[in-house]
Amino acid sequence: MRDETKCLHSGYSPKNTEPRVVPIVQSTTYVFDSTKDVGDVFDEPTKALIYSRFANPTVMAVEAKIAELEGGVGAMCTSSGQAASLLSILNLCSAGDSFISTAQIYGGTVNLFAVTLKKLGIECIFVDANADEETINNAFKENTKAVFGETIANPALNVLDIEKLARVAHSHNVPLIVDNTFATPVLCKPIEYGADIVIHSTSKYMDGHALQVGGVIVDSGKFDYTNGKFPEFTEPDESYHGIVYTKDYAKAPYITKARMQLMRDFGAYPAAHSAFLLNLGLETLAIRMERYCENAMKVAKHFEKSDKIEKVIYPFLEGDASYENAKKYLKGASGVISIVIKGGKDNAVKFMDSLKLASNEVHVADIRTCVLHPASATHRQLTDEQLVACGINPGLIRFSVGLENVDDIIDDIDQALANV
Ligand SMILES: *Cc1c(COP(=O)(O)O)cnc(C)c1O
Repeated sequence: MRDETKCLHSGYSPKNTEPRVVPIVQSTTYVFDSTKDVGDVFDEPTKALIYSRFANPTVMAVEAKIAELEGGVGAMCTSSGQAASLLSILNLCSAGDSFISTAQIYGGTVNLFAVTLKKLGIECIFVDANADEETINNAFKENTKAVFGETIANPALNVLDIEKLARVAHSHNVPLIVDNTFATPVLCKPIEYGADIVIHSTSKYMDGHALQVGGVIVDSGKFDYTNGKFPEFTEPDESYHGIVYTKDYAKAPYITKARMQLMRDFGAYPAAHSAFLLNLGLETLAIRMERYCENAMKVAKHFEKSDKIEKVIYPFLEGDASYENAKKYLKGASGVISIVIKGGKDNAVKFMDSLKLASNEVHVADIRTCVLHPASATHRQLTDEQLVACGINPGLIRFSVGLENVDDIIDDIDQALANV
């Protein structure tokens, strides 16, 4: 099946007289015929459903759909994108370990990696995404267990050279994790370029309608965890009577371990109703992404024509710093554009406050056009130095083009620019 078809049909195939739409199984628990049956699933929780803190039929249908869209062997939904980022690292790193991340990532992830994981004894080593392979190689330590980057960085819009990072990660026998939130599997499938684990904030394009926060982790099933660096995968898990993930779950050891250990213990699993809503968004994802890209391209070109704009960042614009990577890795550059208005922060605020159709929101990838000033909102916690390292000019505006008629979006921009 192609993406449009997978969006509608993957993950749930009703049989004779079953509901056409994936049902909402709003139940915390499941019944068993006998005490022995209950005991058996505690030894091996993937055998049957046991408790909705880590598995639920509605959520699992969505997990299967996203895994198919990304070309992975399994997926696990989380209650937010932040939870997906956190668990994707904790599944590989313990206190005393380190991992490498590109500096051009979402501000919330910077904080999670640089501050909160540090408190847990896990060190994040930041490297410039555009650094050459030798520089990234040199950043590795003996205890480095993963490499992390974003396909299209939020909000710098730097497009990741996925093959380069995969090569470097694999030469050190560690997996590459790619946050594919902005691209979605419709515009890029990082696993095809060597990524081992793909994560998303589903709160953005996948949900698409600004309805609910969520995340997901996808396992490519391709990384070899038996290389000696990952004993938690190859030695018996005493909390499950000695299961060995690379042996007993050889097809998808990463995601099985994430669910059986981390989701069991942290419990950041979405409710069935949230997954049902996410599924509605996914059904139209492929179609929506096409129109987001089309609208954004027109809006980006329109911004380029204005003499009030200092810079337009949109990876599919010729001459953009990421143009070559965009052409190589992406089918389109999503609906997100970054602009820098002449006159700095004051004019940025004046422009944003003059918009009538586009709303001022702490969100991106909404179905409606929305704008955000990262330096005063999502990236507020970062120092000026960190801002620059993430590729963010203090006067930068993140303009998230929605699915309104593009001429209405452009009319709104023009009347707002007239006030600047
Ligand atoms: C929003 C976002 C996150 C965090 O996701 P939440 O669902 O808000 O927790 C992580 N990565 C990227 C690229 C994002 O845009």
